[in-house]
Amino acid sequence: MKDNCVFCKIIAGEIPSYTIYEDDDFKAFMDISPASKGHTILIPKQHADNIFDLDETVASKLLPVASKIAKALKAELTCEGLNLIQNNGEIAGQTVFHFHMHLIPRYKDDNVVVKWVQDKYEGEPLDQLSEKIKKHL
Ligand code: AMP
Ligand code: ZN
Repeated sequence: MKDNCVFCKIIAGEIPSYTIYEDDDFKAFMDISPASKGHTILIPKQHADNIFDLDETVASKLLPVASKIAKALKAELTCEGLNLIQNNGEIAGQTVFHFHMHLIPRYKDDNVVVKWVQDKYEGEPLDQLSEKIKKHL
């Protein structure tokens, strides 16, 4: 548990949450400022600030849980789609620095915007860039 982390406090029960799922490793609860009906936050119980320090074993268990919750949301809400969104770092829109995944059900005419402009990157050629990144893997 990290001091002053709001999501660690939710895990510890010090801050209330509308929990929809919990197991030994994860907890999922309703976002307090939902972007759409059913907007859910999924977090690992082990604190990590973001993806850059997320334990890979924890990471490997995450998607099955996200998938289970997405199916439950769809079953109950009959949403037409769902965005999985996960922000890392302030520049990427992260405001709570405990790794979390957003599950945002999507409906016709909802107010959710998930958008970037394609073909805007005109820097290093992709053959050179891919080789450089590969060296770290
Ligand atoms: P992000 O901008 O990706 O860091 O998202 C943080 C999310 O956490 C926002 O959508 C907030 O509405 C949500 N949030 C912050 N505090 C709480 C809380 N106490 N309970 C539920 N959701 C929260
Ligand atoms: Zn935390």
